[in-house]
Amino acid sequence: MTSERPRVLILGGGFGGVGAAQKLKDADADVVLVDRHDYHTFQPMLYQLATGLVETTAVGHSLRDLLEEHKNTTIHQVSATAVDFDAREVQFDGIDPITYDYLVFALGAEVNFFGTEGAAEHAFPMYTLPHAVRLKDHLLERWEAADRDPKLIDDGALNVVVVGGGPTGVETAGAIAELYRGVFTKDYPGVAEEQARVILVEAGPELFSMFKPKLQRYTTKALTERSVEVMTGALVESVSPTRVKLKSGTEFAAHTLVWGAGLQGNRLVQTLGIELQRGNRIAVGPDLALPDRPEIYVVGDSAAIVDEKTNQVLPQLGSVALQSGEHAGETIAHRIAGKKAKPFKYRDKGTMATIGRGAAVVQMLGGRTITGKKAQVAWGAVHLALLPTNEDRAKAIVDWAGAEFTHQRVGRITVGSE
Ligand SMILES: Cc1cc2nc3c(=O)[nH]c(=O)nc-3n(C[C@H](O)[C@H](O)[C@H](O)COP(=O)(O)OP(=O)(O)OC[C@H]3O[C@@H](n4cnc5c(N)ncnc54)[C@H](O)[C@@H]3O)c2cc1C
Repeated sequence: MTSERPRVLILGGGFGGVGAAQKLKDADADVVLVDRHDYHTFQPMLYQLATGLVETTAVGHSLRDLLEEHKNTTIHQVSATAVDFDAREVQFDGIDPITYDYLVFALGAEVNFFGTEGAAEHAFPMYTLPHAVRLKDHLLERWEAADRDPKLIDDGALNVVVVGGGPTGVETAGAIAELYRGVFTKDYPGVAEEQARVILVEAGPELFSMFKPKLQRYTTKALTERSVEVMTGALVESVSPTRVKLKSGTEFAAHTLVWGAGLQGNRLVQTLGIELQRGNRIAVGPDLALPDRPEIYVVGDSAAIVDEKTNQVLPQLGSVALQSGEHAGETIAHRIAGKKAKPFKYRDKGTMATIGRGAAVVQMLGGRTITGKKAQVAWGAVHLALLPTNEDRAKAIVDWAGAEFTHQRVGRITVGSE
């Protein structure tokens, strides 16, 4: 049966794609949302999954469940492989091509190893749900292996090098150090602190380059108090399964290298034949559409959106992705209803990051800063609002409160295949 209604094709079920779909619920359109996974990933909590603080379903939410009340929406779990702008058609790995009247491009970003030798094969990136589960299983597996054969400890089985002094690297290093010192010291008594090192390596001169110097100093102190060894101005040259070598010649015996050092636009953007901005992001107009293709909206991490207030490109953040996705969905619904499109206005709730229990930093647009428990509460409030459902919010509150009071990590089991 062919429909007379316009078709809106949404590529990606992250913050941007789901935000767009939410605003198209009542539109007089057929909406198709496609993602290579059958779930929406809440990336800000990946480090909590990797360190056993929360379980898989706290971070991945079924897309069919999220959009089940959207009677005009169809979901497919397939990978998009090519976009033909002229034919207004997208090709997929596994289903027939789908044509569109409006396209929302929300495929996010992916890891960039910057050509570091051995990183693609041996590093543990931290950008997807499978990445977080793989890191958690690997850490637990190394501790169990070292328990069976203590000689592995001297070979660096328990040492972790985390690359990247931005939010992903800092929060992962802080969380691993807390897991090591707060939980594994009891699970595996007899392992001394210096036999299970957590080293954070950043190429630039300071951590958190986007924050004011006093927040950078606070972060280094909070990490050091949690026994993270912070190295700035240090570049990773190569990675093997058991060694991490820096450009300076320093070599660490470490069986785990966590990569939190860089993103690039989704690989599909490189095939579109359009000029890309820094980080392979796509420049959009004030309404988030491509300047010469008004039927195509690009949102979230894939887009280079210039903030109308600051004239700066907005950062790759969940709140930017959600708000831009919602704006695209709302604009398409307005256009279908014959109304005029409005320019996108980003509502900034501050830039923030967590470091560990009771330690976080917040920098507001006007320059005001907050640290410590208050900042952690602010991080919690902003990120609860980003979670897709009230049920997810309730679950996150229970998990966070449980970890705060009991210091326990419920998710520290490995479930491999037999
Ligand atoms: C570890 C980590 C921690 C973060 N912490 C924070 C934080 O604390 N606060 C904050 O605001 N932001 C944080 N961010 C950033 C935030 O998560 C991103 O900015 C946001 O997820 C971007 O949303 P998006 O919809 O553009 O892309 P994504 O959320 O990446 O969604 C893209 C979707 O597209 C799908 N996809 C990709 N390629 C294809 C394909 N070819 N075919 C089909 N589907 C495809 C993916 O499966 C995915 O579901 C963090 C990011 C990471 C990685």
